[in-house]
Amino acid sequence: MKKPKTHNHSSWKLTYKDFVPAEENLREALCTLGNGYFGTRAASMESSVSRIHYPGTYVAGVYNKTPTHIAGRTIFNEDFVNCPNWLYLSFRIGDGEWITPSTGNVLSYRQELDIHRGVLTRSMRIQDREGRKTTVKAQMLVHMQNPHIGAIKYVITPENYAEWIIVRSALDGTVQNRGVPRYRQLNSKHLKGIALGGFGKNGIYLSMKTSQSNITISQASRLRIFKGGRELKPVSRILKDKNKKICQEFALKVSRKKHYEIEKIVSIYTSKDELIKNPLSATINSMKTSYRFKSLLKTHTQAWELLWRRFDIQIEGDQFSQKVLRLHTFHLLQAASVHNSSIDGGLPARGLHGEAYRGHIFWDEVFVMSFFDLHTPQTSKALLLYRYNRLSKAREYAKENGYKGAMFPWQSGSTGEEETQSLHLNPMSGKWGPDYSRIQRHVSFAIAYNVWQHWKYTRDIDFLVNYGAEMILSIAQFGASLSKYSRKDKRYHTEGIMGPDEFHERFPNSDKPGFKDNAYTNLLIAWTLIRAQEIASILPRDTKDNLFKKLHLKEQDLLHWENISQKMNIIFNNDGIISQFDGYFKLKELDWASYRAKYGKIQRMDRILKSEGKSPNEYKIAKQADVLMMFYHFPLVEIKDIFRRLGYKFTHFLLKKNYEYYIKRTSHGSTLSRVAHCYVAYLLARYSESWKYFLDILRSDIYDTQGGTTPEGIHVGVMGGSINIAMRHFAGIEILKDKIKVEPSLPKKWRSMKLRFFYREKWIALSITKKDITILVHGPESKIFNVPFEVNGKLHHLVFGKAHNVFLSRRK
Ligand code: BGC
Repeated sequence: MKKPKTHNHSSWKLTYKDFVPAEENLREALCTLGNGYFGTRAASMESSVSRIHYPGTYVAGVYNKTPTHIAGRTIFNEDFVNCPNWLYLSFRIGDGEWITPSTGNVLSYRQELDIHRGVLTRSMRIQDREGRKTTVKAQMLVHMQNPHIGAIKYVITPENYAEWIIVRSALDGTVQNRGVPRYRQLNSKHLKGIALGGFGKNGIYLSMKTSQSNITISQASRLRIFKGGRELKPVSRILKDKNKKICQEFALKVSRKKHYEIEKIVSIYTSKDELIKNPLSATINSMKTSYRFKSLLKTHTQAWELLWRRFDIQIEGDQFSQKVLRLHTFHLLQAASVHNSSIDGGLPARGLHGEAYRGHIFWDEVFVMSFFDLHTPQTSKALLLYRYNRLSKAREYAKENGYKGAMFPWQSGSTGEEETQSLHLNPMSGKWGPDYSRIQRHVSFAIAYNVWQHWKYTRDIDFLVNYGAEMILSIAQFGASLSKYSRKDKRYHTEGIMGPDEFHERFPNSDKPGFKDNAYTNLLIAWTLIRAQEIASILPRDTKDNLFKKLHLKEQDLLHWENISQKMNIIFNNDGIISQFDGYFKLKELDWASYRAKYGKIQRMDRILKSEGKSPNEYKIAKQADVLMMFYHFPLVEIKDIFRRLGYKFTHFLLKKNYEYYIKRTSHGSTLSRVAHCYVAYLLARYSESWKYFLDILRSDIYDTQGGTTPEGIHVGVMGGSINIAMRHFAGIEILKDKIKVEPSLPKKWRSMKLRFFYREKWIALSITKKDITILVHGPESKIFNVPFEVNGKLHHLVFGKAHNVFLSRRK
């Protein structure tokens, strides 16, 4: 997709100055509005599902599983349910056609997402077949303070006519899950109508139930119409389409050049909401408040303002980075928010923005967690609790597979069962084939990592005692049971698993999926076992005893874990290159140059090879960072330390060799890949290379560089990764056990960078230029902050409330 031509210079705005049907789906995803509870794609409100438009509303945690008969088998898929479309609002002049931008003659068009206020504005001048021109200006919000509310203000101005118009609003439950073309052969009907009707003055409601998960989704809306500040009270007529769609129509006699303001306020509740017995009455009751768009806009903007005070990273000197980092922050805050504390929903890899990957939750949260940990730790806690609440399913899953402890699924949805498909459609070959990606057991260790990081940043002992410790110990049990001792080489080994690189599913000519000794997973297991022992030593005695009893753990288990963490097998070749898995070096080299010349875009090398009848398993290729991924998670000193315990010597020089080796063999078929490579390139002081990756990261969603994936939902991993890189790499923040280390390294173009983060109940503000850094810790004035700051190698002890300025020596 080529660059949209029209970006406003303001870094708080995403602006499109024309209506381009082919770009509509991408814009719908990029301008999605949400609040962590629900997200609504920015489809034009006048349109229903079509080739051009895809209205979608997703409520966190609302999934439904249905069977489909395909390729001779019945498969079950759990979908992130596309809930009734509450947006619909349009009008027609006299007996004319209903107005939509895709069918009318659009004279001018402008769409603007105000990132700061969370408001989407769409203005258009449109002409119908009779030459009647109308200006329409619509504003929309999904309320950030009251997570159940969405609102539209729709202003119609007849330019050259005075006639009767009919305004129609709807709550449309005829929607299905049709957002991802690849899934269209699968069952996509999830909703059954249960009730619909009118209430009070100009109110309508619709209540539907998911077919298998039995979740009731209720929506109510009210319409109010104003002319010159005066409320008009036309009588509406209600139209019902079976029990799935309800429309409300008003006839208005309009005059030329006058403004008719229609306000549509909607509320959404589901039977999953805490403390809600009857979602339908909750939604109708909430409409008793006579909301006005203006007052909702005010409270909504205030809620966003509070968020920006915490999260905004200000950059001088580079408009593009500034704008995209804000866009990424904005979408992450819409995908999960402070409201998540009362939602049992995790962080879908594609946000609440679309149906890709069926709204499932993968390991991608590992790229996002620190964003929340360092600003609103209650959000990351809620996301971790989503996992905790599914610990017993993870235990069952481990047991079913012959393991101990807790093994989390690769794709998680409502119940915590494995939701990965067993069959997958290759869109290039059009063939269905087995999908082994579920054997990516590393997801469990990523969860252990997230729990540990949360503890590291917050020191929230209640969380650790009540939930975190149990998660890490249970995952450690799983890691230990995956590790099998071999007397031959006196090492522990794993088998039958895949690392993050999904191109390799099994060894060529082997019929068993998975590999022996995936280095990334083995290292993560060793790390988890070390941390689990540390956790056991931190816990208060009685908590530890109770937990050990609950998990059937004994002191000998800790010794066993210690042993594994000293003898886990990692394979190196004679040049010090870490083998992605046992046998990797025996695979064939790919002729990258000829594939590049033939196909241009070769990110999905797996699909290309399969469409040529070849198997990606046979080649030294990687979809994304696998070996190198470990260096993204842990500081090099920590990796060296783990390797030292394992009896391997690792150096900075070997990191360089490994980077150079794998970078040549990676196609970046996942947006996550560039995040890891950007960070590793930075560790190796390859600043210009790292910057190039950073720009690729920034471009990936806004320009949909993965070729059509963003329209199906934004990528939370890459968005979180971009902010993580800005904080860890450009601001150079590293949170260590006993100090905070800051080693800024601003990109050439950036003149300055300002940010805040929350660390152990304190807000810390950093203002960085090329020459100096100013640090301000908020807290009781004149007291000493008990965590020292190391700036470029020198320790500083800071006083609360006092800006501390440090001169930065030049980068070596
Ligand atoms: C990547 C995975 C990722 C998933 C969801 C896949 O393409 O390979 O690492 O978890 O997308 O974003």
